[in-house]
Amino acid sequence: SEPTGTNFINNIIDEDIRNNIYQNNKVLTRFPPEPNGYLHIGHAKSILLNYNTSLRYNGKFNLRFDDTNPVKEDEEYVQSIKEDIKWLGADWEDRLFFASNYFDKMFLYALELIKKDLAYVDDLSPDEIRQYRGTLFSPGKNSPYRNRSIEENLELFTRMKDGKFIDGSKVLRAKIDMSSPNINMRDPIIYRILHTHHHNTGDTWCIYPMYDYAHPIEDGIEGITHSICTLEFEDHRPFYNWLLENLDDFKIQRPKQIEFAKLQLSRTIIGKRFIKTLVDKGIVDGWDDPRLMTISGMRRRGITPEAIQNFCDEIGVARSNSIVDIAMFEHFVRDDLKLKTPRLMAILDPIKIVITNYPEDKIEWLDMHNNQDNESLGIRKIPFGREIYIEKEDFMEVPIKKYFRLFPGNEVRLMGAYFIKCNEVIKNANGEIIQLNCTYDPETKSGSGFTGRKVKGTLHWVCAQNCIESEIRLYDYLLNDNNDIDDDEDNPDPLNNINPDSLKVIKGYLEPELANANSGDKFQFVRNGYFVVDSKDSTKNNLVFNLTLNLKSSWKP
Ligand code: ATP
Ligand code: MG
Ligand code: MG
Repeated sequence: SEPTGTNFINNIIDEDIRNNIYQNNKVLTRFPPEPNGYLHIGHAKSILLNYNTSLRYNGKFNLRFDDTNPVKEDEEYVQSIKEDIKWLGADWEDRLFFASNYFDKMFLYALELIKKDLAYVDDLSPDEIRQYRGTLFSPGKNSPYRNRSIEENLELFTRMKDGKFIDGSKVLRAKIDMSSPNINMRDPIIYRILHTHHHNTGDTWCIYPMYDYAHPIEDGIEGITHSICTLEFEDHRPFYNWLLENLDDFKIQRPKQIEFAKLQLSRTIIGKRFIKTLVDKGIVDGWDDPRLMTISGMRRRGITPEAIQNFCDEIGVARSNSIVDIAMFEHFVRDDLKLKTPRLMAILDPIKIVITNYPEDKIEWLDMHNNQDNESLGIRKIPFGREIYIEKEDFMEVPIKKYFRLFPGNEVRLMGAYFIKCNEVIKNANGEIIQLNCTYDPETKSGSGFTGRKVKGTLHWVCAQNCIESEIRLYDYLLNDNNDIDDDEDNPDPLNNINPDSLKVIKGYLEPELANANSGDKFQFVRNGYFVVDSKDSTKNNLVFNLTLNLKSSWKP
């Protein structure tokens, strides 16, 4: 895709280029997911930002799995993340990296810090370390182990690596300043002992680097020029810079960390941890449940990469947090599908009509445009016969004021077919309407140029003798309408706010044309909304359609 509008990050990079900060002025960005879950719309924003920035400057884009924490990571996530990024269209070419492949180097850099008296092995317990760290309002205290000799630290750290100590008994800490106003600079832990299997390195390591130590080194090793991350890392930037400035390998060129605001959306929660809880509790049908804002969920919902890209372009990149109205996202989804999808007819809540003056065994095939606004989508044939279905809501026995649809004595147009008039309402023993008897006027055939009289209502319909039945899944928001709930990882309990009616499964009656629909095919069902063939459960004999969105937009540009 084309580089789009400029943002504050572009201004920073432009300035760096003017000042010749980077060798050959080659911009290199990266997307660094931790493989501990599936990607979501927030990640999509970050992927597209990094990828588009690389395109804009004729640079390169790395995909790097930030897999330095063995506990929560899994190969399944690595595969899904690759698939999702490819689908979004961000091309990392051959630039795929795993942070765990840098464990050897990270270990050597830790030795370098120890030799420079910039790191020490600490025997305090995790609780003690927390106590010694102090608070925002009080300085921390030096650990009694802080003045160990370089020789002793080298020996202890090597023994940590050799598996001589149990989990939690020792850590390696950077030696900076226990009274720094920035708590992240109060001798942060850089290595911990964890006798745990790692998805990539197996049992090679029993010490693992902490995120704040690993991340700058990963960026440095790859030669990243602009390390774009989200705002919660702003206070970590001083340590990011401290570390790289103190390692000889990064004397000449260092990456620059730039923070932007996380994407948040109303009516949904996109934090990985929250989504994982919904998946683990079975509240949703896996990570790709169409109600989730995961990339795989959106794909299964019938949302296209182009819609996501257009939305991300529109919201831009900012340095302050705000919640984006989900209606705006939906606007871009509809806008993208509008001209791309064929418009077919489906009846989701049927009432039967018998056209009493139409021959019993006759089926005629009518021509219909697939999309009135995009003739390149061509024409199809639809069957018309004596028995048809319309939506229940398109009939009223006793019409309210200004009701132009079908009621006894009234005439309406059946889209692409004929005018029909309702003559008789048939009810069962309980008084429920089960059938409408109508007559049609052969003169009024669509496309025949008939101008004899006008009708106000046009209804969609399907031929009851020649339609297919399918499962239709209607989705609503996962969360109730309550804007007080925010995506705070530290106190999440949006589970209290779950909408119990976010999925409704019904039967639909579709034009026979849809029998040929394949997994992932997208349609507009006239007047009902956008639908997609479910990629997980739909089969040739048992079609399943997911609602992408209905047609009504509440968003005003
Ligand atoms: P989550 O908060 O959902 O757990 P994360 O940040 O922990 O996400 P990572 O795999 O570490 O997940 O994220 C990879 C990249 O995606 C990071 O650079 C992160 O800042 C970015 N990212 C995550 N969530 C968002 C978001 N909502 N908006 C924009 N970028 C995001
Ligand atoms: Mg993270
Ligand atoms: Mg997280």
